[in-house]
Amino acid sequence: MSSTPRLESKLPDVGTTIFTIMSQMAADHKAINLSQGYPDYDGPAALTERLAWYTTHGHNQYAPLAGIAPLRAAVAAKVERFYAHGIDADTQVTVTPGATEAIFCAVHAVVRPGDEVIMFDPVYDCYDPAVRLAGGVPVHLILAAPAYRIDWQAVRSAITPRTRMIMVNSPHNPSGSVLDEDDLEALLEIAEQHDLIVIADEVYEHLVFDGQPHWSVLRKPRLAARSYAIFSFGKTFHVTGWKTGYCVAPPVLMTEFKRVHQFVAFVTATPLQYALADFMTHHPEHLEQLPTFYQRKRDLFLAAMAGSGFRMTPSAGTFFQLAEYSAVSTLDDMRMVEWLTKEVGVAAIPMSVFYQSPPAQRYVRFCFCKEDDTLRAAAAKLCELG
Ligand code: PMP
Ligand code: GLN
Repeated sequence: MSSTPRLESKLPDVGTTIFTIMSQMAADHKAINLSQGYPDYDGPAALTERLAWYTTHGHNQYAPLAGIAPLRAAVAAKVERFYAHGIDADTQVTVTPGATEAIFCAVHAVVRPGDEVIMFDPVYDCYDPAVRLAGGVPVHLILAAPAYRIDWQAVRSAITPRTRMIMVNSPHNPSGSVLDEDDLEALLEIAEQHDLIVIADEVYEHLVFDGQPHWSVLRKPRLAARSYAIFSFGKTFHVTGWKTGYCVAPPVLMTEFKRVHQFVAFVTATPLQYALADFMTHHPEHLEQLPTFYQRKRDLFLAAMAGSGFRMTPSAGTFFQLAEYSAVSTLDDMRMVEWLTKEVGVAAIPMSVFYQSPPAQRYVRFCFCKEDDTLRAAAAKLCELG
């Protein structure tokens, strides 16, 4: 008998995520890190101070399953304020350890072996594995460059009797495209006709630029009635390392969500929740200021890159900016980001990792949730490439 246990991988084609790889490469080569999406500045002091207070004043034991009541109330108030959608904080909100866990739980609450789940490439990396681990079949449709919009006719054609779920992400990582009201109407029509459940990944809800509104599924009551809408406090409050988010769903969907969540994470860290609840209650202006805060960074980065050989269509949302580099290099995008990191000193994310079958294109993704000086220094290096 061999001493090595038999273990057949459930995700044999999956390696370490590109975000970890590129951040490590950036650190190893002391490159400016515009790869993984996280700020190089801290969350608001009024938020981090509350966390310090709660950890030193006896708020360090398990929170309730759905999250602490004041945070769920703050979420419900915010959903009402931004999307004119009234929800019951007790039955329609669950606080989670990040949006990633919420996506996993929503998928596992719904998807059974053989169920088909529609998603759109370029796709955020955790969707496909979550579906496959549930025994589901990911169906990858394409968002065509440079607009990266959903082709609803292609969605209709892809529906089969096994289609159970559709996963949308707006604002969209990595392209920065956003859904509009027409998109929501098309989504609603298809979802109702085929009785689909929707996962709406809206972690960048407050990062929508150029005066556009964010078209949350929560703005459409009939769409909200069949959706898990998923959000991340990490993005909104500049604290990605806190790994906290939440899911909003109608009671019938939320009941199933909680059945899974209680055995994946059980609950979310308690003092973080109290700090977030306080900050949301006392600083509502933070959310109002976010679009301007990030649009200014986007514009600063675009202006600083104007003299470079990278071609960029301004990102409509998120803190990511795609850049087409065929005038700069003939390398494929994996080798391009390696070269950029090791030789040029700026780390980026290759676009091909977001595709099941990568198209023959030359795009990398830069992250602009960085100090102005960081963005200027990176752009100066990239402009030297001509
Ligand atoms: N969805 C998208 C589109 C993201 O970009 C991210 C995070 N980077 C997540 C989900 C996960 O968010 P969290 O860190 O809260 O798990
Ligand atoms: N979502 C972030 C990005 O796209 C990274 C999060 C992660 O590393 N999993 O860069």
